[in-house]
Amino acid sequence: MTLSLNTAYIGLGSNLSEPITQVQNAIKAIEKIPHSQVTQVSSLYLSKPMGPQDQDDYINAVLALETPLTPLELLDALQTIENKAGRVRKDNRWGARILDLDIILFSNEVINSERLTIPHYGMCEREFVLLPLAEISPDLVLPNGESVKLLSQNIANNAMVKLG
Ligand code: ATP
Ligand code: MG
Ligand code: MG
Repeated sequence: MTLSLNTAYIGLGSNLSEPITQVQNAIKAIEKIPHSQVTQVSSLYLSKPMGPQDQDDYINAVLALETPLTPLELLDALQTIENKAGRVRKDNRWGARILDLDIILFSNEVINSERLTIPHYGMCEREFVLLPLAEISPDLVLPNGESVKLLSQNIANNAMVKLG
């Protein structure tokens, strides 16, 4: 039997407990998801927080994962990694967090279910998603036909710094 693989793009973010280490450890944990392969990893970026401003800047990155998992299986795997990193879910939306792993895209799929919205609902307004995504996959096109390169060229950088 051949497993059919999808390409998922995952957005990583952290602004607590040594965020660079958190993101690097999360990449290593994602590399261990069964039968899946990380094929591209963006640079790390230092970005301004969304929402509450009384929190530290974020470290963000985006990676591409070839995986036979379903979108929900992948979400479960990512939430397990978030929990193991010590993420505590609080009511304060967009507040400081040790690790956030969001599924930005899952091949060309459009999903609107209780647990998943794909493409990620905020991806087109977030420089810390679009710019790392355009770095690793400039030719990517969203399910609605929009070009990642064009979207990334038209978004304000919001003082984000590419760390390499
Ligand atoms: P935002 O969604 O605005 O980036 P957040 O990432 O901080 O905020 P979380 O607390 O990490 O939000 O996730 C809340 C819920 O969002 C999760 O339990 C999950 O079921 C749901 N969710 C919906 N779509 C996605 C997606 N594409 N990737 C990850 N989680 C998603
Ligand atoms: Mg998020
Ligand atoms: Mg999240």
